[in-house]
Amino acid sequence: MPLSPILMQPAYRYGAMTPWGGTRLSDLYGRALPDSRTGESLEVSAIAGLNSRDSDGTPLSELVNKYGKLLVGTKVRGEFPLLLKLIDAKERLSVQVHPDDAYASRNEGKLGKTEAWVILHALPGAELIYGIVPGVNRETLRRASEQGAQVEPLLRRVPVKAGDAFYIPAGTVHAIGAGIVLYEIQQSSDVTYRFYDWERRDRHGNKRALHLVKALDVTKFGEELQPIVPLAVPVDRGTGQRERLFDTGYFLTDRYQDCTDVLLPADPRRFSMLTALSETTLRQPDGKVTVLPAGQTMLLPALGDDLLATGGSFLVSAPQIKD
Ligand SMILES: [Zn+2]
Repeated sequence: MPLSPILMQPAYRYGAMTPWGGTRLSDLYGRALPDSRTGESLEVSAIAGLNSRDSDGTPLSELVNKYGKLLVGTKVRGEFPLLLKLIDAKERLSVQVHPDDAYASRNEGKLGKTEAWVILHALPGAELIYGIVPGVNRETLRRASEQGAQVEPLLRRVPVKAGDAFYIPAGTVHAIGAGIVLYEIQQSSDVTYRFYDWERRDRHGNKRALHLVKALDVTKFGEELQPIVPLAVPVDRGTGQRERLFDTGYFLTDRYQDCTDVLLPADPRRFSMLTALSETTLRQPDGKVTVLPAGQTMLLPALGDDLLATGGSFLVSAPQIKD
């Protein structure tokens, strides 16, 4: 018996955990949020203490234990590899960098973090920090970051609009700017080294901790960083547009638009995750129909049904597999 698609209930990070968060996930997607400063909705997460859940309330880690390869796929080994979030940055996030697998395993006993973003909504003038300006070396960055605000002119600012996509490999200095709602696909890790927090203080007058030594250790210099140029890919059956946004060492992400009865075949090697950006209808072979409202994510088991999808815009991400 194939497993049915699993409608995920998110876990939220909010309040003091995300002082930069807002209410856009409610404004845009009708979510009942835990707080007026809700920064992160973890749509598909097996992070300890922040598991997303199925409609019966079972945490993802338990589902993975229960169904094993039927759920995650024959080629997905070890811990659940990916984390999918929606992020609402009412205010800008701290400037940060993540380690790669080798550094994270050596220093934290965890996975590294390569991530990627699709901008879902951006206020006029919204921008990201994406890398450092060309010509800056480690020593310059070290001296500037020790002086706090002096690091600001070294940060590369990129204006964004809805639909733009960015790849942030481990070692890339980055920050989400104010007025941005985005889709984030990443390795399942929470290792973050903070360079700079815009001199912000909480209501007790305290700044958040920085991790300058480790941040400098893992920062890569001289990288070519460009927004993603989507690659057209034919749809399987039906009609619609499909673009490959990310094809990285860790994950694949396709964007589908204006689709009618497009086939999403189950892949016994790996699970995938479908996030509706506008209302999306999924039809199973037995005729069962699920209507996903905008902003909802379904986990599609590796040993699931082939599905027919109809919708104006949705994203499908899956783990990369190495043969
Ligand atoms: Zn990050």
